[in-house]
Parts: sequence; structure tokens; C-alpha cells
Amino acid sequence: MNKVIKFLDELNDEEIYEFEKDLKSGSLQKFIEQKKEYYKIKDKMCSTCGNNVNEDCTVLIFGDPKIGVRKKAHFCGFDCLEYFINKNIKRVNVKKKR
Ligand SMILES: [Zn+2]
Repeated sequence: MNKVIKFLDELNDEEIYEFEKDLKSGSLQKFIEQKKEYYKIKDKMCSTCGNNVNEDCTVLIFGDPKIGVRKKAHFCGFDCLEYFINKNIKRVNVKKKR
């Protein structure tokens, strides 16, 4: 928290009102949520090729919520996502239909 207090202490009067406005409008909360999502993704690898992915990577959430199997997979690009879907998800669906 010290870092935040120090930051606030350095704001001038105009900036402190601006900060308060952002705080009340919820735009700071939105920024915090984005930042948290970024840290969650930071050390993830592409589920297909194993490359490290960055914050704007493609994320796939799949599985059946009724049986509590929800998985999250990260991909460095759409080609890796497509490969993953063809290899894993389509195969599962084919099995279910039988
Ligand atoms: Zn990849």
C-alpha cells in the first residue's frame, strides 16, 4: 500500500480530482481487473506449441459446467487454437454422440 500512498501524495490538486473521478466511475476497477488478468496469463504457455503467450493471447474456456469440468487453454495464435480444437474438442464430441 505504501507505493499507492506515495503515488497519491505526489498528485497535484487537479490530478487528485481526476483520480477521484476515475475511482468513483469504476474505470480504475476496470483497469485493476485487466491488470489481474494480465498477471494470470503472464507465465502461461500455448496449449498447442508450448510457446509463452502474452496478455492479448487467445483464451479458450471449455468443458461442462454441470459436472464441474471447466478448463482454460491459452494459445499464441489462431492456428494453434484451431489445431487444439481439431485434436481435442472435436474428438470428445464424436465420442459423446456414439
Ligand atoms: Zn502456439
